[in-house]
Amino acid sequence: EDFVPKKKEGECVKVVVRVRPLSRKEIQDGHDEATKADEDSGRITCQNPKADADEPPKTFTFDAVFAPTITQRKLYDVCSAPVVASVLEGFNGTIFAYGQTGAGKTFTMEGVQDPPELRGIIPNAFQQIFDRVALAAEGVQFLVRASYLEIYNEEVRDLLAKDPKNRLDLKENVDSGVYVKDLTSFIVKSSHEIDQVMQAGKKNRSVGATAMNAGSSRSHAIFTIIVECCDSTGTVRTGEHITVGKLNLVDLAGSERQSKTQATGDRLKEATKINLSLSALGNVISALVDGKSQHIPYRDSKLTRLLQDSLGGNTKTVMCANCGPAGYNYDETVSTLRYANRAK
Ligand code: ADP
Ligand code: MG
Repeated sequence: EDFVPKKKEGECVKVVVRVRPLSRKEIQDGHDEATKADEDSGRITCQNPKADADEPPKTFTFDAVFAPTITQRKLYDVCSAPVVASVLEGFNGTIFAYGQTGAGKTFTMEGVQDPPELRGIIPNAFQQIFDRVALAAEGVQFLVRASYLEIYNEEVRDLLAKDPKNRLDLKENVDSGVYVKDLTSFIVKSSHEIDQVMQAGKKNRSVGATAMNAGSSRSHAIFTIIVECCDSTGTVRTGEHITVGKLNLVDLAGSERQSKTQATGDRLKEATKINLSLSALGNVISALVDGKSQHIPYRDSKLTRLLQDSLGGNTKTVMCANCGPAGYNYDETVSTLRYANRAK
């Protein structure tokens, strides 16, 4: 099968694919790159290692594709900087990392602290926001707040709370739409401060991970930054002007299929919930991209309900699908690319 991109004017959803490099271990074990990204044509080709030699590779085309040599900075400038810029102007935006466990989602979202060139989308977004705040004119004030939660088994947990295991409820009201009741939110004044908030929340995630084994990849983690801008430089008549933009940075649970993981009991329950929420997200995004749907099925999962006001409308959404390049990743990589292809 061959997939051709649909292009639309003023599209608010952008789907990109990043192929990570082979790891040192994979190189030692003699793996080759079975999946390749051609950045100029936006094309990904996947060679099935089990196929006959004359079988052509599967190809997919996207808004942008990134080969293993892409730098964190370049990826940020292309995919994330425009979203963050529009959040600073008072619009909502969401950036997702999708893919199987080990495909590079966390590397893409968080990256590595040191050296600074390896920092991912989240710390670079902090930098962009506070660089902008520092340039604010007299009479213009920014207020930046951060919260961090995870959705595990369709339950919302506050990663910044004293007891992150507590389950929080989703509520809805006419004024503020869907929100998480009692969610902790910190006012942050610098990129260093917000970085510390992220590190603190991350620790709460990994506590969960030791208790239930690789738990972190079994939950969706959402780091949310709300930027309020109060501009009082207007005339007496126009008065103060306040804009509020919300940025959601989402490290999704691993997309590997449960048939593969041979899950039973709790593991199977987790996998079922993950499949449910990832397919609900796929349905919402494809309904938005399609543009003809009367009904966007936001209510089908906690993830899509929670992000309802940041998906569609005049918001910006980026889905970064991450893939491993090795032949043994072939099935999962094709499944990731099919998912991404539907979302575009
Ligand atoms: P995931 O979060 O999808 O499970 P990770 O982000 O943890 O996957 O990546 C798995 C491993 O591969 C990590 O050791 C990570 O540092 C490394 N890695 C992922 N993407 C890249 C990349 N683009 N360049 C270098 N190393 C990467
Ligand atoms: Mg991860």
